Amino acid sequence: MQATDFAFKKSLLDFVPAQGIDAECVVIGSGAGGALTAQFLVEKGREVLILEEGPFIEFEDGQCGIANTFPRVWREGGAIPIMSNTSLVFGEGRCLGGSTQLNAGLLNRTPPEILEHWRNEYRIRDLETETMNKYQERIEQSLFAHTTEDAENPMGRILRAGAERTRYKGVEVPVAAQEINGRKIKQSMQHTFLKDAVLAGVKFIVNCRVERINTAGTRAGGVTALWRNQGRTQRILIRCKYIFVCAGTIQSSLLLRRSGVKKNVGSSVQFHPTLRVLAEFNELVSGYAHEMPSFQIKEFAPLLTMGASLTSPPYIAAGLALDWEHQKQFMEAQDRMAIFYVGVKSRALGTARNIPFGRGSYIVRYSLLPEDAKNLGFGYAKLCELLFAAGAKRLFPAITGAGVIENFSAVKRFLSDSLLLKNLNLVTIHSYGSCPMGERENGVALDSYGKLRGFDNIYVNDASMLPTSPGVNPQGPIMALALRNMEKNFG
Ligand SMILES: Cc1cc2nc3c(=O)[nH]c(=O)nc-3n(C[C@H](O)[C@H](O)[C@H](O)COP(=O)(O)OP(=O)(O)OC[C@H]3O[C@@H](n4cnc5c(N)ncnc54)[C@H](O)[C@@H]3O)c2cc1C
Repeated sequence: MQATDFAFKKSLLDFVPAQGIDAECVVIGSGAGGALTAQFLVEKGREVLILEEGPFIEFEDGQCGIANTFPRVWREGGAIPIMSNTSLVFGEGRCLGGSTQLNAGLLNRTPPEILEHWRNEYRIRDLETETMNKYQERIEQSLFAHTTEDAENPMGRILRAGAERTRYKGVEVPVAAQEINGRKIKQSMQHTFLKDAVLAGVKFIVNCRVERINTAGTRAGGVTALWRNQGRTQRILIRCKYIFVCAGTIQSSLLLRRSGVKKNVGSSVQFHPTLRVLAEFNELVSGYAHEMPSFQIKEFAPLLTMGASLTSPPYIAAGLALDWEHQKQFMEAQDRMAIFYVGVKSRALGTARNIPFGRGSYIVRYSLLPEDAKNLGFGYAKLCELLFAAGAKRLFPAITGAGVIENFSAVKRFLSDSLLLKNLNLVTIHSYGSCPMGERENGVALDSYGKLRGFDNIYVNDASMLPTSPGVNPQGPIMALALRNMEKNFG
């Protein structure tokens, strides 16, 4: 057992008396936002308790990544259905470390034009590019982010070759990873902020779902949670001075709404919908044997981003399953296949709602706009063009009825014929906007630094606070904003 594993275990609370316990600061959720928040507070000498709904899983170094974690650390087994005018599922983590335990660790910065939009439209203060770059740099250092041209990664090679031949702009995105004993180890929250936090004295309760924040007037007095411990479920009470809601876009807004806080909460949920394509090549790709490549196509960014997606046999089978009868024979080629995506920055707004008396059930609604179908169609054609330019032999689009595509002219034909929202099979792993921040009069739930409007001691410090999609992978933008908020409020 590593020294840090021991520290994690020692920091886990295993008993809560019936009358409850007291803590100065309660952090709800331990992902990108929660881990940073807890680490910041404990380093400032505050007493911190993290409440995490998911389990503490001791990840072996090489296990911390998308391919190895399915399904026990995903919420709802990895596919949260969204009520939509298209087929859309959302995936997020539910364990100590949150989604950072299973993500690819690509660390982007918020593009300057997005920061400008947030300053102008949401009137968020102190959001100049230079200011945010300083926070981004600190996050990048803490997560050992660096760019490497991953020459061994076949999916990266395909994207690079396609970019060169189509002359589309591509970039190596920095990855949160450290080289340890010749192996690249992804730097999740368990490897970084949570590790530092436990060493500095943070306590945890895991398998502990916060049901409600208990408020009176403008103050929160604590939380009530359901704790699954040693085979039984116990309702526990934690009294505290400050509450930090960091449960992720959907769950943070549901928790606030369950607690009676509804104004501008959970009514502007946003996603980064992606449309995938399974591509077959002549050469060996063995996508499942490799990390996610860090190369992304940014020619049409921030509106559209393209890259490689998780490629493992179940995902390949799912890619062929739209017409399994006619396509099952292509499973034989799985070693020569890889999955790619185009993601669109949408302006659509959705909602997250608890189902009354639903024992924790909820419903997320989010419908794409006609412009999204148009933008996705444009981006998808470009992605297919790039893949054929890189040597793809066949493409299997995640579009019902599209069949097998064997050349680029066929792409053009089916895109003009059948890119209807109802035929798309979209997935998303990026969410935002359920509790937007800012000073504008309408539609914001938080002030410019994450404090919940109408309350003196409740803060939201996770993906929920981003007012719109940042147009890039969001972990970097979330953590930079979270650090900025902590410095302003508790520095
Ligand atoms: C497969 C995958 C790959 C990704 N790849 C990238 C990438 O390469 N780069 C990037 O920038 N982003 C990536 N992301 C997105 C990124 O990981 C998230 O945007 C980020 O982690 C969100 O941070 P968060 O703190 O808002 O939520 P999370 O990190 O999801 O953490 C929320 C935590 O709160 C807990 N929680 C929820 N409700 C409660 C409750 N009621 N009580 C107690 N605890 C609760 C959850 O169990 C969870 O652990 C990826 C996401 C996924 C799922």
